[in-house]
Amino acid sequence: MFNSLSERLNDTFDRLRGKGRLTEADIVSAMRDIRMALLEADVNFKVVRDFVAKTKERCSTSEVMDSLTPAQNVVKIVLDELTELLGSTESKLVLGNRIPNVIMLVGLQGSGKTTAAVKLAYLLKKQGRSPILAAADVYRPAAADQLSALGSEIEVPVFRGDGADPIEIARGSIREAVDTMRDVVIVDTAGRLQIDEQMMQEAVDIKRAVKPDQILMVVDAMTGQDIVNVVSTFAERTDFDGVIISKLDGDARGGGALSIRAVTGKPIKFVSMGEKPDSLEVFYPDRMAKRILGMGDVVGIIEKAQEMADVEQVEAAERMLREGFTMNDMLDQMRSLKKMGGMKSILGMLPGGQRALNQMGGNLDERVFDRNEAMIMSMTAQERLNPKIVNGQRRARIARGSGVQPSDVNSLMKQWGEMNKMMGKMRSMTNQMGGGKRGK
Ligand code: GDP
Repeated sequence: MFNSLSERLNDTFDRLRGKGRLTEADIVSAMRDIRMALLEADVNFKVVRDFVAKTKERCSTSEVMDSLTPAQNVVKIVLDELTELLGSTESKLVLGNRIPNVIMLVGLQGSGKTTAAVKLAYLLKKQGRSPILAAADVYRPAAADQLSALGSEIEVPVFRGDGADPIEIARGSIREAVDTMRDVVIVDTAGRLQIDEQMMQEAVDIKRAVKPDQILMVVDAMTGQDIVNVVSTFAERTDFDGVIISKLDGDARGGGALSIRAVTGKPIKFVSMGEKPDSLEVFYPDRMAKRILGMGDVVGIIEKAQEMADVEQVEAAERMLREGFTMNDMLDQMRSLKKMGGMKSILGMLPGGQRALNQMGGNLDERVFDRNEAMIMSMTAQERLNPKIVNGQRRARIARGSGVQPSDVNSLMKQWGEMNKMMGKMRSMTNQMGGGKRGK
């Protein structure tokens, strides 16, 4: 997601970095590049126009152009503007005092509503709530079966009622929640392939019947710019509270998702990065902006480790940021990254990681990590702590010990070198940009 946008913006910044002082022409050409990058990512043209105008104005001051680090200032301004475009601060899921709370999901068919309902239930369950799911999508064949199957996977009950009248099912699910002591009801409603009056009316009727604390609209990131119209129509009719963007793990250009907040004024509350129940994340505009600009989401990585409740890992991550990166760390990281949901998602959060991933064609052969593991196991304790001492002779020994070619050891060493460098960069970035602080 956002891959080519990231790439293009970084190329623009690289060109600026090559210069000392910036001229008016440099700014004009950088802004032209940024405009093209956003348009090609399918960001709404009005959003692009405003974004570029604001960014240009802020970049065209003498403080920026004559500063010692003009390129860095431009990057910082683009980061600020991108964060603002995405909504500045986290928009929380607001639940009231009543029990049960009701969350209603709306959206087009295929947007990922049913799976989002399950992911949300899973997230709330992890926060100590006891959710129940209501299967009010009675039109899509097997929608209720799908919900039941996914619900039982995460051990959350699913209320199906008579399976015929969506409004009755929604009402019934609230009675069921009271009877079975559940404190949140998540109502999955029916979608259509396109905006359709009957669907809209049904959403409005369910809303009237169950008075949800929050209505969330699920939006497929792959939809492109049209999504802005769909979201606007839903906003008009259901006055929903926020958006869940699904399928952000795909290779869509992402411009529709980037435009939603600016065009409709509705905040993005969650993003979904996969099909599994644990792939829903709270949306933090600042962190997403940093990821788009390839600056890495340090806080996200640490939180992901924290979610696994592995204190050792969190401490290790913090120590690495302080003290640098040994082969033991690399081994630990490789092992825990595998547990944490795959290298690809983590690499995407590292500074420059997305770019590296793009350069590999978006593919990462996780088997390489097994080979790396064997090589590190063949190193002495001293070599692992201080990989710089690994000379030609030692490389040959390690290769023999682990049954690989010396060139494999070379690439492991190179990889360590790069990760070590990346850790150093991440450290200075965390210090400079306050990235170590939690997003609000
Ligand atoms: P609904 O019609 O809106 O209820 O859509 P579903 O929840 O059935 O989702 C449609 C398809 O999209 C399913 O195959 C889901 O597994 C898939 N899907 C939903 N969310 C995501 C996501 O975040 N990432 C990926 N890769 N697939 C998703």
